[in-house]
Amino acid sequence: KGAIRDNVLRLSREVPYPRKDGKPIYTSEFYGENVFGLAQIAKALPKPAYAQFLQQMRGGQSLDKGTADAIAHAVRIWAMDKGATHFTHWFQPQTGTTAEKHDAFLTLKSTHGVTGIEVSAIDAFSGSQLLQAEPDASSFPSGGMRTTFEARGYTVWDTTSPMFVQHGPHKTCVLYIPSIFISYNGDALDEKTVLLRSTEQVAKAALKVLALLEPVPQGARPITSYVYTTLGIEQEYFLVDRSLYVLRPDLKITGRTLVGALPAKHQQMEDHYFGHIPSRVLATMSEAELELYKLGVPIKTRHNEVAPQQFELAPIFEETSLAVDHNLLTMDVLSKVAHRNNLKVLFHEKPFKGVNGSGKHCNWSVSTGQGENLLDPTIKPETNYRFLVFLLATLDAVQRHGSLLRASIASASNEHRLGAQEAPPVILSCFLGEHLTEVLNAIEENRPLKNFSNAEIHTIKLGGTALDVKVASLPDIARDLTDRNRTSPFAFTGNKFEFRAVGSKQSPSFPMTVLNAAVASSLLDIAEALQRAAGDKPYPSDADKLKVIRQYIVSTKNIRFEGDGYSDEWRLEAARRGLPNIDNCPDAFDELLSPKNEAMLCKLGVFTESELLSRHLILMERYSKDLLLEANTLRTLLAQQVLPAAYEYRSVLATSAAQIKSLGMITCPELKTLQTTTPLVESLQDWIDKLDEAINNVHLHNQDPSKEARASVKYLLPAMNGAREVADELETIIADKYFPLPKMSELLWF
Ligand code: ADP
Ligand code: MG
Repeated sequence: KGAIRDNVLRLSREVPYPRKDGKPIYTSEFYGENVFGLAQIAKALPKPAYAQFLQQMRGGQSLDKGTADAIAHAVRIWAMDKGATHFTHWFQPQTGTTAEKHDAFLTLKSTHGVTGIEVSAIDAFSGSQLLQAEPDASSFPSGGMRTTFEARGYTVWDTTSPMFVQHGPHKTCVLYIPSIFISYNGDALDEKTVLLRSTEQVAKAALKVLALLEPVPQGARPITSYVYTTLGIEQEYFLVDRSLYVLRPDLKITGRTLVGALPAKHQQMEDHYFGHIPSRVLATMSEAELELYKLGVPIKTRHNEVAPQQFELAPIFEETSLAVDHNLLTMDVLSKVAHRNNLKVLFHEKPFKGVNGSGKHCNWSVSTGQGENLLDPTIKPETNYRFLVFLLATLDAVQRHGSLLRASIASASNEHRLGAQEAPPVILSCFLGEHLTEVLNAIEENRPLKNFSNAEIHTIKLGGTALDVKVASLPDIARDLTDRNRTSPFAFTGNKFEFRAVGSKQSPSFPMTVLNAAVASSLLDIAEALQRAAGDKPYPSDADKLKVIRQYIVSTKNIRFEGDGYSDEWRLEAARRGLPNIDNCPDAFDELLSPKNEAMLCKLGVFTESELLSRHLILMERYSKDLLLEANTLRTLLAQQVLPAAYEYRSVLATSAAQIKSLGMITCPELKTLQTTTPLVESLQDWIDKLDEAINNVHLHNQDPSKEARASVKYLLPAMNGAREVADELETIIADKYFPLPKMSELLWF
């Protein structure tokens, strides 16, 4: 350990930021250079074919062979000019990560010549290869939807997400084709198919509502023909030194430290957040950004987060499914680049006990095809029907299907973070801020809006001193109308909602799928209510709209909460309100199959019944697997590293004590330390037995995933917590020299 520790490679790499003639090239000049976007497709196709392609992209019709062949040819030449030798359908099985299988462009062509068959090598890529591939799907989680003897699964190009090339070691280069992954019968086997279905449903429902709210005169063009949801993802992560990381089997195998005492200095000084970015970290961030810019991923912000060695990045928001693809790509690129810089990136939600964990804040809104944000309050939100309706539809969705949203973020790892005084609780509620709350209250009570005084709006007035002269010409800066409440799991932040409970490690796809679906369902209900309110009239009047809005303000009141989400009072208050407080994963997963959630998802066609059942099964299975993996890793760690270290140290103390005694000395402080360790070592031995027992108890249920998951909660969690407590205490006593694992103090301060 010592040698490796001493060897910590603190050096970063030189970032190969592109330069031309010794001068920097602007980011905008190389942004997207590894992406085969719409511009390239337009160039590859005759005009009518391109128009048809666009229609297909939005409408989900299948592409004709000629168009597919033309695109395939163009993209192959483009990719090969960048060095690509292979292509791959890049898809998102239900493992939380992406999958790829590479195929060479190389093909053999045989011709019959005078001397017999002549075989020659050519490079080829056909339209049908572009559109669809058939990977052996038997080893991906399918939740029983596809038995191994019918291993067929299909990856199909998702035309809404552009193809790109990625360079690897030794100048290798591969063409990536973003794809969905479905079974022979068209069942979704992946995360993306359901997300795309959900976006389509939001679009349909939103158009219906807009047509009622803002009817266009006959013959005129509708305000928009396309609506989509937008997503901007803040990604938190930790970076640790690679040479220390390799000495931690728990980090390598489970992504988090299963033992480790909190060091004296952790995050209590509040000096890390927004602090100076360490140079090796900055080198990693910029090298990753460089690659991501070329891939067309618009990374915008980077900063230090609250815990030591914790960081965050956020891109500019994009259309939801593209944002999800880009988030997965970002995680992938960041891992690779960190490795090159002798760092390891940890996306786990809680890699270290006692300091903040990581989340993936999903900023979500709805936009028209023209880019108008439907959740943007205009100057007078109280008269803005459109804004209020989309706001209330979202509140209604969270109120009705909060338990489903809760299920969508449940995982063995995220559970360590949620509700731990650093992340939102598992009770779903919405924060709106003082001003918006007043707007809703005023409408509900049918009274004028309370005048927000200057003091409340916090206009920054500048005085007339000589020093201020320069700045005095600035306009008054009004405080953002929405306050910030970090304790809310689902907060309105000015012109979008921020779903903060999503885990840093998980794919954002499933939470966004259920959010989209729930909002689509609420929008459809609102459309119906508007039609009812209009009665015989073709469109609702302003009074009708207000009536529906008021009705929804009242019915969604329960989900609004402005206070401290971390407090115990809120738990009690939420219980009084009847809001679900689901504190374990198996119970959360069961919410997928609760009648109201299942009915909503299936009615919209976002999931079929069997797809939901299979997802439920996969989630349960994965949960037990995650916990079993942790328990087994912990057991090995304790038995092979922590206990032997304790024994070794005890032996040193005992030898020393015996020597001291033989010298006839009366006091022997070594004995005191020896005695302190005795009960701890005994206890740790016991805990290893208890861990074994717990693991066996879980295995007893391995025929039934739900029971196995519940047994994991019941047996594994307490055994792991109990064992850890003792191990952590021992760590603080055993001389550092004998303790083989790099400690939190080393991992977090390198
Ligand atoms: P915070 O103050 O919450 O830390 P950041 O600036 O770090 O905010 O991140 C906000 C994220 O929200 C960014 O990714 C941004 O692009 C995204 N965002 C902004 N407007 C929208 C919108 N209309 N829809 C979706 N995401 C949005
Ligand atoms: Mg945020």
